Amino acid sequence: MLVVMQQGATEAQIQRIIDRLIEDGFDVHRSTGAIHTVLGGVGGGDQFDTAVVEVMDGVKEVHRIVSPYKLASRAFRPQGTVVSIKGVEIGGSQVVVMAGPCSVENRDQIERSADIVADAGAKVIRGGAFKPRSSPYSFQGLGEEGLKMMREAADRRGLLVISEVMDSLQIPLLSAYSDILQIGARNMQNYNLLRDLGRIRKPVLLKRGIAATIEELLLSAEYILSGGNYEVMLCERGIRTFETYTRNTFDVSAVPVIKKLSHLPIIADPSHGTGRRDMVPPMARAAVAAGADGLLMEVHHDPDHALSDGAQSMYPEPYAELMQQLRMIATAVGRSI
Ligand code: PEP
Ligand code: MN
Repeated sequence: MLVVMQQGATEAQIQRIIDRLIEDGFDVHRSTGAIHTVLGGVGGGDQFDTAVVEVMDGVKEVHRIVSPYKLASRAFRPQGTVVSIKGVEIGGSQVVVMAGPCSVENRDQIERSADIVADAGAKVIRGGAFKPRSSPYSFQGLGEEGLKMMREAADRRGLLVISEVMDSLQIPLLSAYSDILQIGARNMQNYNLLRDLGRIRKPVLLKRGIAATIEELLLSAEYILSGGNYEVMLCERGIRTFETYTRNTFDVSAVPVIKKLSHLPIIADPSHGTGRRDMVPPMARAAVAAGADGLLMEVHHDPDHALSDGAQSMYPEPYAELMQQLRMIATAVGRSI
């Protein structure tokens, strides 16, 4: 940790900081410059709250040097993590596409969806059976019935399944039907759920919260990893900003940032990231070019009548066309789809 003292900080103020750091086990190295005194704290507790020092008299700023997450950091596994599920490798050279409707609505819809996504080359079908809707009066999903239908449709086409788990009580049910358990943006900081997912041995896709920093996302992943479940994938799905044209602001720069900071695969969701189907193809292309390990996209055979997220769901034809373009982009960046 580096503590930069204010110009003119008194000797007594500097000494109080030194004493405070020593109290927490740091070795303190002092450097007295012409304008600022800088104190370097080495060792000590990684979890030390820098704000404690930041608010002390005479302090200008504090910089943490060691990251607060360990298991999620790139240093823990410099070669990167590959999550392997029934022969599909996520985090390797292939860019894995996960596509399908926002929600499972009925058997006909999910059967058609399986054909649409598999024909265009996706490896995973998505579909929510438990939906975290903004309004309690909106369609909440079909529950187990929906999961069963999606599993059957997926098996018919040799697809993997990803579906959202909203609550710890749902973990056994979701684990029985789904190959990947999705944690939604609204649950990124549901620490009890994260801990419970750390206890199982099943791949998890953790979505970034709408107002979460990348560091907070990595700390949430750390909860799952620290329980011993290392099959974690991260997902950039757009964040809340002051822009209103799009539903969320798709943070494409999060892809290379996460690649640099963490060994975990990063999946991009341009559907929730933009909220508009006309913005999904350009952002999907950008995400693959930026190095995403996979995409999560909403596709529906009849988006205008979808029970959830119709506006951001692609029609089948533009989706298939997009998949062709993504193949070329993947090749250009040394990968495949
Ligand atoms: C979803 O994938 O349908 C979903 C609800 O996503 P998010 O949690 O990112 O809003
Ligand atoms: Mn959705």
